[in-house]
Amino acid sequence: MPTTNRQRRTATRIGYGFDSHEFREGVPLKIGGIVLAHNKGLGGHSDGDVLLHAVTDALLGAVAAPDIGALFPPSDPKWKGADSAVFLGEALKRVHDAGYSVANLDASLILAAPKIGPHAAAIRVRVAQLLEVHADCVGLKAKTPEGLNLEDAAVAHVVVLLEKRSPTRARKKPKKTRRR
Ligand code: MG
Repeated sequence: MPTTNRQRRTATRIGYGFDSHEFREGVPLKIGGIVLAHNKGLGGHSDGDVLLHAVTDALLGAVAAPDIGALFPPSDPKWKGADSAVFLGEALKRVHDAGYSVANLDASLILAAPKIGPHAAAIRVRVAQLLEVHADCVGLKAKTPEGLNLEDAAVAHVVVLLEKRSPTRARKKPKKTRRR
């Protein structure tokens, strides 16, 4: 998608992503690029990483690019069992091509089990790594689906803020460190 004048003028852009996957036996549980020990994983054509899919759609939405399903159709055997980090990488490339980088991201995960708390730090670090930002720029909350009758599914909501990249800063070579 060509960058429009409107995109060139805007200092910040916001994106929102949502995804849900059903739990399935016999597959590993992958959330935010981390494999979690659990008796079930998430079904899906790719690795079923519900959080990375929502992050990918938030990034794509922020630059008004086609969504994850349009770019990586489940009907394409090429994406069977694919690492969802590949989808996120393509979305981030489009963000960079449009002249933006990620300012921060905030995510909510809704699932009955397993508990996300013990893994939250590792998930934030991995998502930050994939987004090329510091872990302080990735927020993650986990909720149980009270009253939603969602025991067999995991849901992710994500918002992302993009900021205009400074071309001078992006081109700057790293400073040589002076010995003291
Ligand atoms: Mg998905």
